[in-house]
Amino acid sequence: MHWLNFEHNGQSFVGYQEGDRIQPVEADDMFAVIDGRGTEPAGDSLSLDDVRPLAPIRPGKVICVGQNYMDHCREQGIEPPKKPLLFSKYPTCVIGPGQEIRWVEGLCEQVDYEVELGVIIGKAARRVTEEHALDFVFGYVTANDVSARDLQFNDGQWMRGKSLDTFCPLGSAIVTADEVPDPQDVSLRCRVNAETRQDSNTFEMIFSVRYLIAYMSQAFTLEPGDLILTGTPDGVGVFRDPKIFLKPGDIVEVEAGDFGVLSNPVGDTLK
Ligand code: MG
Repeated sequence: MHWLNFEHNGQSFVGYQEGDRIQPVEADDMFAVIDGRGTEPAGDSLSLDDVRPLAPIRPGKVICVGQNYMDHCREQGIEPPKKPLLFSKYPTCVIGPGQEIRWVEGLCEQVDYEVELGVIIGKAARRVTEEHALDFVFGYVTANDVSARDLQFNDGQWMRGKSLDTFCPLGSAIVTADEVPDPQDVSLRCRVNAETRQDSNTFEMIFSVRYLIAYMSQAFTLEPGDLILTGTPDGVGVFRDPKIFLKPGDIVEVEAGDFGVLSNPVGDTLK
C-alpha cells in the first residue's frame, strides 16, 4: 500500500492510495497506521487532484549513512568504508512535496541534493540479526538528504550542515515493505531543473538495508516511525567538475523506484 498524509479543505488526513484516488482512514497520524490502528476507511475516497500531499511522517530519529554507495566512493576517489559511517539529521528538517528548500542568507553557499531510499521502521528493533532485520521495516519512502557542504565539511562534524530546516524533503507516499520485495534493487534518480544529475540503483549500496538495521540495532533501539536514510549514489553537485550547487528558483526532483516523483522548489534565502 501507499500511505500518505494529505490536506483537503484545510484539514489534514491520513489515507492510502487506490489508483488515482485516496481513501482517508480513521487514524490521526502515521504512527497509528504503523502500529496497525485506525486503518479502517473513514468517509468517501477523494481524487488525488483534490488533495495536497504533506510529508508522510514527522519521524522519530533520523539516522543517516554516509559514503554508502560504491559509485559515490569512486567519484570522490576514496576507498569504500570498512563499516557504516552514521550521522543524524533532526526531524525538524522534514518537509513535504512541493514545499520550499530554504536557508538563511549568508549562513551557507554550497547547498546540494542527495536522492536516497528512506526506510521507515515498523516495530522496535534491538539487537536484531541480519536474517530478521527486514521484518522490522514498515515501508520505504523517497528522500532528499539536502546538505550544506560548506557547513558539513568546515564544522568538524556533519550535524549542522545536514539539519537545517527544510533539508529533508520526504514523500509523498510511504510504500509498505510487501511492495518492495528487494530493497537492494530500487532505482534512484535526481533531476535539477529537468536535467538528470543522479541515476543509479540501490544495488550499488555497500552496506545493505538488512545489514544497516542489524548494525544500528546493536548500538541503539530503533523505534516505530524512525527513519533511516541509506546513503546517496554518485552525481552530487559537490563532486562535479566544476562544482554546482542549488540556488533559489531551482526545482529538485528525486525518485526512488516507482514510488512517485518528489519535487521541491528552492525558495529565496531568508533575510
Ligand atoms: Mg546522504
